Amino acid sequence: MLIRIIVGLAVTAAGFGMAARRFRWLGRLIRSGKPAPDRVKGSIVPKAEAEVAEVAGQRKLLQWTVPGLAHFFTMWGFTILMLTIVEAYGALFQKTFHFPLIGTWNWVGAIEDFFTVAVLVAIVTFSVIRVKNAPARLDRRSRFYGSHNGAAWLVLVMIAGVMVTLLLYRGAQINSVVTPGHNTQFPYGSSWGPFASHIVGKLLHPLGSGTNSVLATVFILVNIAIISGFIVFISYSKHLHIFMAPINVAFSRRPRALGALDKTPDMDMENVDEDTVFGVGDISHFNWKQMLDFATCTECGRCQSACPAWNTDKPLSPKLLIMELRDNMFASSQQLLSGQGELTSLVPNVIHPDVLWACTTCGACVNECPVDIEHIDAIIDMRRYQVLMESEFPSEAGLMLRNVENQGDPWGLGQAKRAEWTQSLDFEIPVITGTIPDDIEYLYWVGCAGALDERARKGVQSTARMLHRAGVTFGILGPKESCTGDPVRRFGNEYLYQEQAKANIETLNQAGAKKIIASCPHCFNTIKNEYPALGGDYEVIHHAQLLEHLVRTGRLTPGSSYSGKVTYHDPCYLGRHNRVIDEPRTVLSAIPGVEQVEMRRCKERGFCCGAGGARMWMEENIGKRVNMERTEEALGTGADVVSTACPYCMIMLDDAVRAHQREDDVRVLDLSQLVEESLGAPGPEPAGAGATAAPA
Ligand code: SF4
Ligand code: SF4
Repeated sequence: MLIRIIVGLAVTAAGFGMAARRFRWLGRLIRSGKPAPDRVKGSIVPKAEAEVAEVAGQRKLLQWTVPGLAHFFTMWGFTILMLTIVEAYGALFQKTFHFPLIGTWNWVGAIEDFFTVAVLVAIVTFSVIRVKNAPARLDRRSRFYGSHNGAAWLVLVMIAGVMVTLLLYRGAQINSVVTPGHNTQFPYGSSWGPFASHIVGKLLHPLGSGTNSVLATVFILVNIAIISGFIVFISYSKHLHIFMAPINVAFSRRPRALGALDKTPDMDMENVDEDTVFGVGDISHFNWKQMLDFATCTECGRCQSACPAWNTDKPLSPKLLIMELRDNMFASSQQLLSGQGELTSLVPNVIHPDVLWACTTCGACVNECPVDIEHIDAIIDMRRYQVLMESEFPSEAGLMLRNVENQGDPWGLGQAKRAEWTQSLDFEIPVITGTIPDDIEYLYWVGCAGALDERARKGVQSTARMLHRAGVTFGILGPKESCTGDPVRRFGNEYLYQEQAKANIETLNQAGAKKIIASCPHCFNTIKNEYPALGGDYEVIHHAQLLEHLVRTGRLTPGSSYSGKVTYHDPCYLGRHNRVIDEPRTVLSAIPGVEQVEMRRCKERGFCCGAGGARMWMEENIGKRVNMERTEEALGTGADVVSTACPYCMIMLDDAVRAHQREDDVRVLDLSQLVEESLGAPGPEPAGAGATAAPA
């Protein structure tokens, strides 16, 4: 007995000791990051809700049904089977060990056996998934491309080893008689409960009680040895997430790291000194939460498989980006922990510029990530450094920056043209010059594309006519409206964004704006979610939401003059970033002749059009164009209208429909245009007629 105790405890001490050392080191490394005070403030309630939904409920993992279920049972299996680990250690000291009170109840044994078998089934499932998605077979299309696949297989073998030795020692315990004809080493009596252990017991029974008793000890020791080895391996591998994920989820942004960017840095030049760093240039500039993100990545590849850049053969994979930052964090540990020594510049040494600038900030990665990693914030932080500290960025976007700065719009068409779109309307829209009169309910924020691009103007004009028809009172700022700053912010020019935002907030406040309608999801997101950090608090509604309200309350009744198949493309900044998903579909379903067809990638998992993140003003000369990929999916539905609710998406999808020479039979229309067409109004022209403002 003494030998088995010594061996068991020695193996445990070695394994857990090594792991504890590693975790202590990891803790110090992560804490070396910059402060992130917002992450520790606030109520515990959203954190607890996140733990229940994301960790206990495995919400995001279950978006992928089969691997999600396999992971659900593995995670819960490991949690429940902690009981058996205690039982194994107990049996080292006393062969008939059992928990006080519940330790002989058959249902406890039944639950243990159920989860042992469930974990084994999950391991087989994971193995099949890995074989089917083997990078060697699928290359870039595999979500495991670039992951540490050897380590993943080793972990599967180790988990299987824990489960198999568990069943073996329990089976041997059943046959190890302590009191002849009565008591065995196994704490649970009946075979109905711990069914799997009893099946193994039957197989081992012919070996006799003495041999089984020895086998029980051997398998317990092997079980403990594998668990001890496993914990060491976890601490050095991507399986760190077993411990890191609950911590990362607890400190993640709630309800999600989408919508607003995380930080609004102080850009007041009076507070700048020679040590001020804007953005992230080396790994030490990330905050501790971002470092925790890097250490938590499971390399599952869910983000990669959803990324529009990766799916169109660009070098950006959100998974590989996080892994590269993690590898750099580990490689820089000495400098991070000592606070001394040179650190490598992240761009271009760790993150290639083509990777950094390929991101559309669509949010698909954040939406998919089961451990709540916040990719976009890390990407924008690195862009900020490139733009503000290094002046290194795709040169073609420089024109967009200058245009926003000098003309107030990305195309440089000038603010004087901002009300031109109203000229074709047969009613007047008040242009607010002072304060908004009491008889006007909303301020309509038209946006640069809606005001200046001929294609987008048609959507804005339809929206205005529908609001007017429904009796909604609204005015516009006309020449006083200026770019919200979304493209320059996503591009990394935080300084210019804040200049734009502060000027717009001043204009809005002077006008006394309280309720704002936005047609562009980027404007909607920025005014609604980002202006509050700079003192602009308004009730902001997107025109799709307002149309839904008008239809639902009977103020606008779509007619029956339209019939055809319509597929709705969710703009990323409306659907995924702001969860406006049902409203546009409700409007479509209210049009009697519309047959709605969904694309495979839709709703909060929709696929980007390629324009966000200032990508609209950058060349796209690597891989396939994102708008082509998305439009092919839309055309594949057989729809004759691709409907959307974003001027950027309109332009990108329309370009791609034309590139496919399908403009004669497929139209790209804003939601408002479809409603208007159903009313028997003059049918909206194809979006492309008379375009003036084209993407780069
Ligand atoms: S935000 Fe979109 S484009 Fe950027 S890395 Fe994530 S999935 Fe890819
Ligand atoms: S970042 Fe998240 S989704 Fe992407 S591989 Fe890592 S854990 Fe998976």
